Amino acid sequence: MEIEALIRKKVRELKPYHCARQDYLTGVLLDANENAFGSVLTKGKLALNRYPDPYQREVRTILAALNDVSIENIFAGAGSDEVIDLLVRVFCEPRIDSVIVIEPTYGMYAVAASIQDVEVRSSLLTSSFQIDVQNVKRMLDSTTKIIFCCSPNNPTANLLNREDILELCKLGCIVVVDEAYIDFARTESMANYINQYPNLVILRTMSKAWGLAGIRFGYCIADPVIISYLMKIKLPYNISALTSRTALQALARQEELKKNVEEIIKERERFAEELSDLLCISHVYPSVTNFLLIKCTDATMLHKVLASKGIIVRNRSSEPLLENCLRITVGTREENDLLIKTIKEYFE
Ligand code: PMP
Repeated sequence: MEIEALIRKKVRELKPYHCARQDYLTGVLLDANENAFGSVLTKGKLALNRYPDPYQREVRTILAALNDVSIENIFAGAGSDEVIDLLVRVFCEPRIDSVIVIEPTYGMYAVAASIQDVEVRSSLLTSSFQIDVQNVKRMLDSTTKIIFCCSPNNPTANLLNREDILELCKLGCIVVVDEAYIDFARTESMANYINQYPNLVILRTMSKAWGLAGIRFGYCIADPVIISYLMKIKLPYNISALTSRTALQALARQEELKKNVEEIIKERERFAEELSDLLCISHVYPSVTNFLLIKCTDATMLHKVLASKGIIVRNRSSEPLLENCLRITVGTREENDLLIKTIKEYFE
């Protein structure tokens, strides 16, 4: 498949900005108008007065090894939100092209497209929260550049069928599979399909299982051609030295990650069972994520009651297929118990 043909002409022909640290990271660095006298504060041995590596080579090397791909397959962003935005800008011509989102899903795919003035086509999940492949095929035309799939999906908390995603990969446009919650799903990533399908892009983030939402670090795994165009249009120093260092330190702690994820999964199962015993909750959907989707007798009322007690959950009830649904992040045991107690006190 010819990926180049999917790239916007403007991006293909763009002469990118050439930043100082692309060429030299060491030496007598008098090329970038940094403060050679140092910073007003220090963070260990980090030279915060210097611009960071624009290619984030260290952290991308580790991510490549962890995912069994090469560094040319990895692009790092300030959260996966940045990667979503850049993907839209690489592939979608404003006012001409379109993307397909499989809803209900994470809202930023549609927002990133709309900001770029790209048409958003919405294909509803089936009642069992799976891709309606025939419907996506009907919606797709020559203007469609990206299909966004979120698996496990936010907010429905389930994995999308792998065969359906692979069928979409055969349609010729870019297929983004957002695996933000994959660590909670005890399943294989779809990253090993990128060689077979160069139009497949896998999105990952350190905001969820790694517990590092505050550092803003996400990445994608894709064909080197796609990575090279993301590199071409990104801001020169999109990942700070502090973020790169923290990500690197975290990535060395696989055991802590596993332990943390196991604890969240265990608590998720306990929490789900407790919630399903409550009379005002008619259904707790199965979850392979770190949140639960619940159907209530009156979601807006429950949301209000919880908020009045300082317990904040997400009301998704205005979206298709999600009538009377709330999305609740799995908190600590204490937080979850407080939520249960609050509901019992009010409703039962
Ligand atoms: N993808 C999904 C499915 C999400 O739910 C979120 C955040 N809630 C993101 C991406 C964005 O994550 P990040 O913090 O990496 O920008």
